[in-house]
Amino acid sequence: MLSVVPRPVTVRVPAKVNLHLGVGLPRRDGYHELTTVFQALSLSDTISVVPADELSITVTGDSAREVPVDGTNLAWRAAELMARIAGREPAVAITIAKGIPVAGGMAGGSADAAGTLVALARMWHLEIGRDKMRDLAAELGSDVPFSLRGGTALGTGRGEKLTTVLSRGEYHWVLAVAKEGLSTPEVFRELDHLRENYSSADDTGTYTESPDELLQALASGDPRRVADLLHNDMQPAALSMRPALRRTLRAGVDAGALAGIISGSGPTCAFLCTDSDAAVTTAAELSGAGVCRAVRTATGPVAGARLIDGSL
Ligand code: ATP
Repeated sequence: MLSVVPRPVTVRVPAKVNLHLGVGLPRRDGYHELTTVFQALSLSDTISVVPADELSITVTGDSAREVPVDGTNLAWRAAELMARIAGREPAVAITIAKGIPVAGGMAGGSADAAGTLVALARMWHLEIGRDKMRDLAAELGSDVPFSLRGGTALGTGRGEKLTTVLSRGEYHWVLAVAKEGLSTPEVFRELDHLRENYSSADDTGTYTESPDELLQALASGDPRRVADLLHNDMQPAALSMRPALRRTLRAGVDAGALAGIISGSGPTCAFLCTDSDAAVTTAAELSGAGVCRAVRTATGPVAGARLIDGSL
């Protein structure tokens, strides 16, 4: 008898960088109120699913050992959630090819959750509308709706309420990946601590402002204007926990970038460059500076979680 090997359903999902990250005070539910501008980058994870006897996760790539393969993996939780919606067992083998730095402030786990939702909806032939997919994504984590959607978007609430941002042109980035990740909750705690102990009246309360100037700069498509307006409220906390990142940020600008910023909760440093040539030369010089584990180039904005051609 011929046995039929099931074809995997494969989805590519982008990393994100926050061009603006305004962090408010902690809410009653423990989350912080955010105003953020996300951009999806060409750095991505690839998620494949096939039917199996039981739920399992395999991770490949340089940082595979840093990623859990049990119920604490966000992709596992996404599979359980989708199975519940479908009224079936989460009997799937998930393979994650990691391209996004782990615990790097680039929403790697969120990307894998979004990718798993899209892959399983296709594999199980579920008719789930965009709004419902977005709600499922938000249930899994604050950044998951953006991983699903991609592009450039303004995020409010805990980052899960999204509106599209008009962005012209392509932006060229260099990313300095750190040797060791940072825990997002710990960086938020450090930020609260810094604010309680060291904040002056001048540097509190700006987080609720809409980043209007940045939105105008994005509409103009001028990377120099955008570079001047990159802002991250979490940066002081990430730098307080990892002071060596100051040297990385300086090295990227010395290497030719327009500006550098900590991505989200860090520790990845993201450098905006004028064009692709500048990104390549900046990346080469930064690689030689010995200030990070790896250097990558990426462009944005790109689409969110997408099925790869040939998937079922
Ligand atoms: P964010 O930018 O959304 O705050 P991050 O990119 O800094 O997140 P992740 O790469 O999502 O961080 O990983 C944070 C932690 O979550 C890791 O240390 C790891 O233990 C756990 N984790 C759970 N699922 C995944 C996954 N699919 N990929 C990577 N890490 C995962």
